[in-house]
Amino acid sequence: MTFDRRQNGELYVENTSTSELASRFGTPLYVYSRAAIESAWHAFDQALAGRPHLVCYALKANSNLGVLNLLSRLGSGFDIVSGGELARVIAAGGDPAKVVFSGVGKSADEMAIALKAGIKCFNIESLSEIEVLESVAQAHGAVAPVSVRINPDVDAGTHPYISTGLKENKFGIDTTAALDAYKKIADSPYLEVLGMDFHIGSQLTEIEPYQDALRRILLLCDQLKEYGITIHHLDLGGGQGIRYRDETPIDLTAWASAINDVLGDRDVEIIVEPGRSIVGNAGILLTEVRYLKHTADKNFAIVDAAMNDLIRPALYSAWQEIVPVQPSSAPEASYDIVGPICESGDFIGKDRTLSVQAGDLLAVMSSGAYCFAMSSNYNSRPRAAEVIVDDTDMHLVRERETIESLFEREKLLP
Ligand SMILES: *Cc1c(COP(=O)(O)O)cnc(C)c1O
Repeated sequence: MTFDRRQNGELYVENTSTSELASRFGTPLYVYSRAAIESAWHAFDQALAGRPHLVCYALKANSNLGVLNLLSRLGSGFDIVSGGELARVIAAGGDPAKVVFSGVGKSADEMAIALKAGIKCFNIESLSEIEVLESVAQAHGAVAPVSVRINPDVDAGTHPYISTGLKENKFGIDTTAALDAYKKIADSPYLEVLGMDFHIGSQLTEIEPYQDALRRILLLCDQLKEYGITIHHLDLGGGQGIRYRDETPIDLTAWASAINDVLGDRDVEIIVEPGRSIVGNAGILLTEVRYLKHTADKNFAIVDAAMNDLIRPALYSAWQEIVPVQPSSAPEASYDIVGPICESGDFIGKDRTLSVQAGDLLAVMSSGAYCFAMSSNYNSRPRAAEVIVDDTDMHLVRERETIESLFEREKLLP
């Protein structure tokens, strides 16, 4: 097991003690397990083994170079949403030819850089974007490979902020407009039709929405065939959920066989863009209790991590398990686990029954995805360090920020 308790009841990451990690690198500290990341990636790769396929890790979930480097060594592709993410992939040793570029607001500059890098595909999301990409490609005397992101109008049954496949969302092109989009691409000497894609939401726990969306885009593929337009790959996006509390995550083997049922004997490459499901359960956030505060209504455990380190509870009302790193003899009570930031929304968890005292270490579980990646310097707090554990080895893959670095780009008036 990746995160389990040893002799003295202490939480370990692989064969490394969490209290040793905290004392060596300080807190708050993000810790990721190499084995957990690799096995989550292999689960996708193996589930799709029966077909030509490419697993493109969506790096917005966690774009640390160390994490990207591990995945590029496995031969992973990458799903990017900005020029900055492309630069990270290249710096981490990733192959640009395995990169797909998503996002509703790509700039012409980002398109030009991606085109020159030789990415696999642009997942375009609007007719205006097609025009800009065409002129960028023309200016470079190149042909841009294109997939159109279809908005299949399926309800993935997830939180409204992370649902992306409904027609009221800003994402993708609806199925009626898509036909014209593809004709436009096929008619351009600077654009080439490569694929068709969708991404219907995040933290999904049902297989059916994927099947529904796939059925809808296959109808479109068949229509395109009548116009002599061939789709070479289908990109099913990401969104596979993980267990934070009591969710039942999608079984990838069942998911792949459900996808295969819908695909039948169609001869296409399948691309997937998982983010959260690769890294989410592979990371924890270690934090130290600074003070306990007891009021008439509530008990607070004030910790050294805050909403700038981990914003999911404040942003999405997300629930993440919080456990003491070592068993404690302190009296048990119900606590709100809060940070030092001056916002009432600054909490990591509410109403958690814990036995803790000041100085104890807590671990916030399932913190590998959308945690460090969404962190900020609010309240002039340096961002946390990040470590990848590989058995007993501890690799510092991001140093803790220094206070000075927070304002090194700022200037006094002359
Ligand atoms: C965010 C995103 C993903 C990854 O979503 P997860 O829920 O983290 O798997 C994949 N594709 C696109 C286009 C995205 O925007």
